[in-house]
Amino acid sequence: MERDYSDLFVIALGGWRLELLRLLAYQSSMLRMPLYLVGGVVRDVLLGRTVNDFDLVLEGDSAVFAEYIMKKYGGKIMVHAKFRTATWVINESTFNRLNIFTDFPDSPLSFDLVSARSESYAQPGALPTVKRSTFKDDLRRRDFTINAMAFRLDGDHFGKLFDPLDGHIDLEHKLIRVLHTKSFVDDPTRIFRAIRYAERYGFAIEPATLSLINDEARGVLAQLSGERLRHEFDLIFEEANASTMLEQSKELGLLDTIHPALLAAESQSLIALLAEPEKELGDFFAPGILSSKQTLGWILYLLNLSANNIDTIAKRLAFPTLLTKAVRGAAALNADLASFSDWKPSQWTFRLDEIPTLAVYAVYLMKRESALRDYLSEWRNLKPYTTGYTLQQRGLEPGPLYAHILRQLRAAWLDGEIKTEEEEAMMLKGLIG
Ligand code: ATP
Repeated sequence: MERDYSDLFVIALGGWRLELLRLLAYQSSMLRMPLYLVGGVVRDVLLGRTVNDFDLVLEGDSAVFAEYIMKKYGGKIMVHAKFRTATWVINESTFNRLNIFTDFPDSPLSFDLVSARSESYAQPGALPTVKRSTFKDDLRRRDFTINAMAFRLDGDHFGKLFDPLDGHIDLEHKLIRVLHTKSFVDDPTRIFRAIRYAERYGFAIEPATLSLINDEARGVLAQLSGERLRHEFDLIFEEANASTMLEQSKELGLLDTIHPALLAAESQSLIALLAEPEKELGDFFAPGILSSKQTLGWILYLLNLSANNIDTIAKRLAFPTLLTKAVRGAAALNADLASFSDWKPSQWTFRLDEIPTLAVYAVYLMKRESALRDYLSEWRNLKPYTTGYTLQQRGLEPGPLYAHILRQLRAAWLDGEIKTEEEEAMMLKGLIG
């Protein structure tokens, strides 16, 4: 059952990653708690891809193990008793303590430790009920054979592949295969996961698995909460092949099931997601809990939809308010753009100030309108020297007049009517007498 891939394993994880894993392995041997590296990392090591996340499963109490590690090596732990998980977060001082002479990565490193568990579903589509169990059961709760492999780490087993469900054979044949026939009914988000892996790696969904994407599974999908469904799209927008993944979701009837308004969404425009943000246009912060890429993905995907359809989708998929605002703002701008062609910079600026910058950037990616570029790189940051404080100093009573004066001064700068601080002072004198 155990196959030895330790050479490949050592090559793929060489350096400080390997050192940290060896250390965890040593401690797990001491505590007699078998430790495994599981899931995506195993698949990616076997595919020769870069690995960033580590999921570790322990046959034992993860909280006890994490506490032990922290006491000995420092860092912090977070324990989630309900899910039987613990996270060990390490910082630069842990590296020093362990004599790892490598620059510490840019962001803190974390290792997720989970006690081996099995899952059952009280009803289709419900969140699973978790129970402590053996490691073999832990693999059986997973989505696909290629994600149900593990490298054992403790003792003499270091680097040995543990693959009771023959995931490596499906990996060789480039196949995505579920572990049992109720898999998609238990958790229909796995259908999106299948599509993501298939498109990301150029694999096929194995025919029997494909036939399980049927009306029964779609029926359960239709019942899932907006947050759970939206999260699947969020993950797609992080992928290089986002547009083909959404096409495939459409062909398999998933979009129609979630909401027919999604059928009009434009997956081709997502190719613009691949465009690197143009540095001189500045940094754009995503509004709310989504990453910039995810927000941009939603905006581009829904750009051509009517306001009504956007609102319906936003409601079904529980969009955060600011995401809805960004998508609505971008769609309206995109639709009206042609009618702004003879506008002055100040008109553009005051219009564009009303919507999130990321929405302006999305429309720029699609239309390459130079005024949008000028707005992002210059106009949005252009402000007069005069401030509310200046006006107060000049004895003006605070009130709506302040905004009016500052807006006129800003417009004059934007439209090139004033070019120096002195010219601004002259204009201000004219405005307030
Ligand atoms: P990615 O490269 O997309 O991050 P991953 O395989 O690391 O892929 P995660 O979402 O981080 O995916 O999940 C880690 C592991 O947990 C998976 O490899 C799989 O074994 C298991 N898993 C995650 N989600 C599910 C699910 N919905 N059903 C069953 N198993 C799951």
